[in-house]
Amino acid sequence: MKEGFAIFPGSFDPPTYGHLNIVERASRIFKHVDVLVSTNSQKKSLFSTQERYQLMEKYCAPYANVNVISWRGLIVEYAREHDIRVIIRGLRPLSDFAYEFELAALNYQINNNVETLFIPTATKYSVLRSSSLKEMAALGVGLDAMAPAEVIDMLHEKLAAQK
Ligand code: ADP
Repeated sequence: MKEGFAIFPGSFDPPTYGHLNIVERASRIFKHVDVLVSTNSQKKSLFSTQERYQLMEKYCAPYANVNVISWRGLIVEYAREHDIRVIIRGLRPLSDFAYEFELAALNYQINNNVETLFIPTATKYSVLRSSSLKEMAALGVGLDAMAPAEVIDMLHEKLAAQK
């Protein structure tokens, strides 16, 4: 077992300050964090895998103990291959609980060497999610407090291209 190692998986479509807050807090607790940018074929993403990976890599660069990886397979498979026993998930009030509870139970069923640990979202990001960011961008709501300027610019470009 790789002691002090953890995985923080997500689609990060696109990355928000809510995600980055969890990365920062996880990096303070664990010796090493692998951020897994998932390529989930069932979910259609607005940002390509490469974009999501490159953005996360850039925003995680300040943390010397955080590594960003693009991953196609199951999270528990990555954990098994790399002998990592902790999965970190951010938890927003109400909306995340049922889904995250089921996902954690499912992952534990597949690999009971792996535990899911939750970090509660910072209050200011508690209603922030990537999908609502896209909706708010489409409505022209200011998003500066929610995601890096580069992400917001890319979001606007993508939405304009869809019109
Ligand atoms: P997925 O699409 O796999 O649910 P996301 O990319 O939406 O994943 O999020 C990845 C992780 O980041 C999840 O654990 C999610 O709960 C967490 N997360 C997303 N937004 C926030 C937020 N505003 N505050 C805290 N955690 C968050």
